[in-house]
Amino acid sequence: MQKEFNMPIPAPVQFVLDRLELAGYHAYCVGGCVRDSIMGIEPKDYDVTTSAKPREMQVVFSDCRVVETGLKHGTLTVVLEGMNIEVTTYRIDGTYDDGRHPDSVTFTDKLSDDLCRRDFTINAMAYSPERGLVDLYGGCLDIENRIIRCVGTATERFSEDGLRILRALRFASVLDFDLDEECSDAVGSMKHLLDKISRERIYVELTKLICGRGAARIMGGYPDVISYPLSIAEECVKRGAEIIRADKENGNRLKASARYAAFFESLTEDEGNRVFASLNPSREEARAVGRFLKYRGAEEFDEYSILKLMGKTVDSFPEELIDYELACGRMTCDEARKNRDLCRRLILENRPRRVADLAINGGDLMKLGLSGRAIGETLDRLLDEVIRGDVENEKEKLIKRVMSDE
Ligand code: ATP
Ligand code: MG
Repeated sequence: MQKEFNMPIPAPVQFVLDRLELAGYHAYCVGGCVRDSIMGIEPKDYDVTTSAKPREMQVVFSDCRVVETGLKHGTLTVVLEGMNIEVTTYRIDGTYDDGRHPDSVTFTDKLSDDLCRRDFTINAMAYSPERGLVDLYGGCLDIENRIIRCVGTATERFSEDGLRILRALRFASVLDFDLDEECSDAVGSMKHLLDKISRERIYVELTKLICGRGAARIMGGYPDVISYPLSIAEECVKRGAEIIRADKENGNRLKASARYAAFFESLTEDEGNRVFASLNPSREEARAVGRFLKYRGAEEFDEYSILKLMGKTVDSFPEELIDYELACGRMTCDEARKNRDLCRRLILENRPRRVADLAINGGDLMKLGLSGRAIGETLDRLLDEVIRGDVENEKEKLIKRVMSDE
């Protein structure tokens, strides 16, 4: 136990700890928030682990806003000042017959039992303002040496829950750490265990992995493991790593969707879309990745092409595509800067780029005697002419234009 570390604790979290302690239970901050605080990073959220059993927690927080989503597994979420604080009873995970989730959880009185079920030493530390830091597995030292190490034997821990293979790489990427030798060997030799893991869980970890500071290094170092759950060639991941490395030099401009597209740079549009769909992304996310696969490589970035592309996609996309093309080496930094400036200027000038931006609509065309498909086609053509600058976006002028065509 080390006393010297003083973890800053937000007031609502302190309130939760105090409530439990005053009621006679033990309570600690645990997991990611302790790890991040030691590293000097402000935690995204706070998890609390306690000796109080689920029913006892309910009593302790009976006058607070709580969400009981995970009560079966011992978790109660306390909502305070806009913070969601997950409070979980000390617990031992049962066996993992399916390698996915524990068949049962058992509540325990010992903090040490709760810490030893956790995945990595850096995630297995607890902190209480009264009792200080509890670091039973050398998590602090591993943070200092920037190492991801399993709590216990890596192969055993991965057999219990195959997702930990990807989590090891995710933390290595996000924190810019290395895997210790045992963990590094085990992620390679046990990657087939990812077959048993739900696509949703894989997607969450993979997304964090490719967005991490060390993404290019980890993708380049473990292409066999990362390509495995996607059923793509290792070469795809290596090419993705190159693109993401180039982007890092450009200041990490690529968002998750462009980073996924980087994986699929050596695949056809259809193949890339199919592989991404296998992760069960939302429709919005699938569309965002699909855009890169559709428009990569072929686009021009003059005024007309940019406005057309904005109209067909979303205003922010041409700039994202420019960053992608730059990372792929199909554009120079100077060209990218010039093209980005142009995109921003066109948006600032609020240049028409969608049919809805035209000063004329379907109703106006009907009054002029058009019907059916001719309406949509005419609007498309007028938009094209406005974008080209052949006609001004003014109702009178557009009407005149339509009439002169008849
Ligand atoms: P982040 O900042 O990304 O949320 P985190 O450490 O909080 O990182 P979570 O996935 O939120 O990560 O999990 C919270 C804690 O629960 C972890 O720190 C770890 O102690 C434990 N944990 C989560 N998933 C697993 C798992 N699959 N196996 C073992 N322990 C796990
Ligand atoms: Mg977390």
